[in-house]
Amino acid sequence: MKLEDIQLAALLHDIGKFYQRTSSPHSEKYRGLTPSEFGQTGAHGKWSATFVAENGLGEDIEDLVLYHHNPSKSKNPEYARIIRDADHHSASERHKSESKRNVNEYPLISVFSQVSIGEKRETENEYYLPLMELRPSNLDMIKPEKFRRAVMSGWNLEKEYRRLWNLFMEEITEHGKLDINTMYHLLKKYTSLMPSAVYMSVPDISLFDHLKTTAALAGCLYLHRKDAGGGKPYLIVSGDISGIQNFITGVASPEEAQKGMSKRLRGRSLSISLITDAAANRIISEAGLSQTNILFCGGGHFTLALPNTERMKEIIEKVSLEVNRRFIEAFNGELYLALAVRETDPEELRDFGAVLDDLAAENLKNKRSKFRGLLDEFFRSETEPPEGTCAVCALPSAATICSSCRSHEELGARIANADHMIRVYGTLDADFSEAGISYFFENSRTVISRIDELASGNHRMDVLRLNSTDFLEIRDRIQADNVSFGFSLIGNTVPAVSEGSKLRALDFTEIASTARGADKLAALKMDVDNLGRIFAEGLQDRSVSRISTMSSFLDLFFLGYINQVASEFSFIMDPCDSCRGNLVEIKSSLGTIYRGELCEGCRENSIPSIYITYSGGDDVLVFGPYDDIVEFAGRLRNEFREWTCSNPSIDVSAGIFMGGHKFPAGKAAEIAERQLKTSKDLGRGKISLFGETVQWDTDRFKGFNELLEFGLKLEKLHEAGKLSKNFIYSLLKLWDSTFHEDIRDEETWMRCQEIRLSRKDYVPYYVYKLRNISDAELRRELFREGINFIPWIRIPVSWVSLRTRSGEVNE
Ligand SMILES: [Zn+2]
Ligand SMILES: [Zn+2]
Repeated sequence: MKLEDIQLAALLHDIGKFYQRTSSPHSEKYRGLTPSEFGQTGAHGKWSATFVAENGLGEDIEDLVLYHHNPSKSKNPEYARIIRDADHHSASERHKSESKRNVNEYPLISVFSQVSIGEKRETENEYYLPLMELRPSNLDMIKPEKFRRAVMSGWNLEKEYRRLWNLFMEEITEHGKLDINTMYHLLKKYTSLMPSAVYMSVPDISLFDHLKTTAALAGCLYLHRKDAGGGKPYLIVSGDISGIQNFITGVASPEEAQKGMSKRLRGRSLSISLITDAAANRIISEAGLSQTNILFCGGGHFTLALPNTERMKEIIEKVSLEVNRRFIEAFNGELYLALAVRETDPEELRDFGAVLDDLAAENLKNKRSKFRGLLDEFFRSETEPPEGTCAVCALPSAATICSSCRSHEELGARIANADHMIRVYGTLDADFSEAGISYFFENSRTVISRIDELASGNHRMDVLRLNSTDFLEIRDRIQADNVSFGFSLIGNTVPAVSEGSKLRALDFTEIASTARGADKLAALKMDVDNLGRIFAEGLQDRSVSRISTMSSFLDLFFLGYINQVASEFSFIMDPCDSCRGNLVEIKSSLGTIYRGELCEGCRENSIPSIYITYSGGDDVLVFGPYDDIVEFAGRLRNEFREWTCSNPSIDVSAGIFMGGHKFPAGKAAEIAERQLKTSKDLGRGKISLFGETVQWDTDRFKGFNELLEFGLKLEKLHEAGKLSKNFIYSLLKLWDSTFHEDIRDEETWMRCQEIRLSRKDYVPYYVYKLRNISDAELRRELFREGINFIPWIRIPVSWVSLRTRSGEVNE
C-alpha cells in the first residue's frame, strides 16, 4: 500500500465516531461482525468503514479502518497495526470500554479549562464548546460556555451531529473523490468542535486533532519501516526563525519612504510567516508526507512529526542550509533558521509537552551558534556590492529603496486585496518564493485564471481560501488535478479604502488622523504569558493530540477571532442620515470621517481602523489611531480571557507606544515591545502605557479596564461642560506631588501599589479642588468615586488630555 493510502486511512480511522453519533445505521455488510472481530472498543470502526465504502475510497482503506482496533483480522495486518499504534501514540489515554455513558450528552470541553500552572483552578463549572462547524466570520459563537455538569445531563446532541454530518456529506458527494490534504481541511472544518472520546477521560481533545495526529504518526511509522530506520520511530522537529523582531521593525522611515511604511511592515511580517510555511511544507513534501505532519506552523515557528530515518535527516539538513544561505545573501544574516531534531519513542510521546520543551531549549542553544558551517558564505561576495544603501533597511543597494523593500511593500498591498493564497511546489516568479515553494495572492476575479496558468506548467499546488471555510466552492471550475483545496486563517484586518477596483491600505499618517483629539499613531504588542510553561506543564495529560488541540484553539484566536474583535473598531466616510446625528465628526487627512455607534447598513460600509501588522502563534503587533488601540487592547485581552475560560493560569501582557503621526513606525513597534517587556518584568498579566504599568483587572489595586472607564467618564463630563480641563490636569499634579516611585521589578512594583493604597495625604487637597464644582451631586460623586482613582490617575488623565486636545488650546 502507498503512503497516502495509509495516511488517509489513519485520518479517517475514527470518522465513524462522528457518523455513529448521528444514530444512522452502519452498512448491512458488517452486521454479522462481533466485538471479537472489530475489537472490544472498536464498534465505531463499522461506521468508519461504511463512510469509506459509501465514498468509494477503496477496499484496502475500508478494511484498515474497520479493523483498526483488531489488526489481526485485517487483510493487511501489518498496516492495520501501524494505524492502531499511531492511534495509541496520538492519545495516550486508553478508552477501556465503549460504555453505557451516552456520548451524545457530552460536547467538547475547552482544553483551556484544564490548564493549571501552580495556581489552583476552579473545578465546579465546566466549560463547553458548542457543537458546530468552523466559520471564521462567527468565531464569537464558539467561545466556551460555563455550565454545571448537572445542567448537562439529558442533553442530546444527536440533532447537531446529524446536521453537521449532512453538511459534511454534501460537500464530499458534490465534489467527488478528495485527496488527503483536501480531506484534512474538510475534517478541520467539521470535526474541530467535537470530542474525540468521552470515556475514561476528560473530553477535551477534538476529534480533528486526534485524526490529524494519528495520520501524522501513521505516516511516520510507515516510512520508518519502509526506509529501514533503526531505533526510535519518530523524529520531532522544531524550526525557529530568530531575528524576526528586528527584521520587522528595524527599518527606517525616511521622508521619501514614509508612505509605503504600513504596507512594508505588513509585507515584512507576512514574509516571515511565509518563510516558515515554506520551510515546513518543503520538508514534508520532499518526504511525501501530508499537511497532517505539520503539527504547528506560524509566527516564525513550526513543529513537524517525521520518521526517524537517515533520508529524513538529510532532507532537514538540506532545507535548513538552503534557507540559511538565502538569509545570508538576501538579508545579510539578519534572520536565522534554527532547527532542533529529537528522536522520540512512543513512551516519550506520552509527554509531548516535555518533548517540545527539550526542542525549544535546543533551539535556544542553536541560535547562539548560528550559521555554524556557513561562515564562509559571509565572505564569499562574488560581485562588488553597489555603492549606496537602501534608505529603509540600510543594506547595500544602488536604488534609494532596495528591491527587497519594494517587494515587501508589494506583498503588503497584494494581501490587502487577496481572498486566496496559492502555494505552489516549485520556484517561480511569484508574489513570494522561498525554499523551493512559491506563493500567489489572488482575489475571486483572478484566482481561477492563475490556477489554470499554473496548472498548464504542471505544478502541484494547494489553493487556500483566506478566512473562509467554504473553500470547495471554486473546485468545479478547476480542470487540473494535482490541486488540493483548503483554507487558511490570517489576521488580516487592514484599514483600506476603495480606489477603482482595488483596495488601498491606508498609510500610518492617514490612520493617525482618524483619532479623536490628538493625531497620534499607536503600536500595540501583546503576547501570552508563560506560554512555554503552559504547554510543558500546564496539562496533566500531555498527549500529542491534547497539545495539538490546545495549539489549534490558540490559532483560532490569534489568526481568526482577532479579526472579529478588530472589526468592532471602525470609522465611516458617509454615514446614513439617521446615524450622522449621533456620530462624532473628525477632520482627517481623508476628509471628514465619523465615528461612533453605527446602524447595520453603516457598519457594512465602515472602514476598520485597526491595522493588524502581525498576529499568530501567541503574539500580536497592531497599529491604529491611539484611542482605538487603547480600547482595542482591553477588548482583545478580555476576549482572550473568555476564550481561555477565565483560567487564572492563562493571561496576556501588553505594551502600547504612541507617537506623533510622523514618528517612525518601526521605532514605535520597538518601543511597544520594550513596554511589553516591562509588563512582563513587573509580574505579567499587565499593560504598560502612558508611563504606567497596571494590571488588567481591579482587585485591591485599580486595573486598566476600570481606569479606562474612569477616563471615559471624565471625558464625558468635560464634554458636557461639567468639568474643566484645569480640574482634570490638577489631579495629575496631585499625583505627582504625592507619589515618588522607583519601580524596577515585580517586588518594587508591588510595594509602590501598596503605598498608593495606604497614603491618604492627598485627600484634603482633593477636597479643596472639588470645591470649584458647583453641581453638589457631582461633587459628592466625584469625591466618593474619584478618591480611589487618584493613586492611579495617570492613565485616565492622559486619556482625557489626548482625546480633547485639538482645537481647544485655550480654556
Ligand atoms: Zn478507534
Ligand atoms: Zn483513534
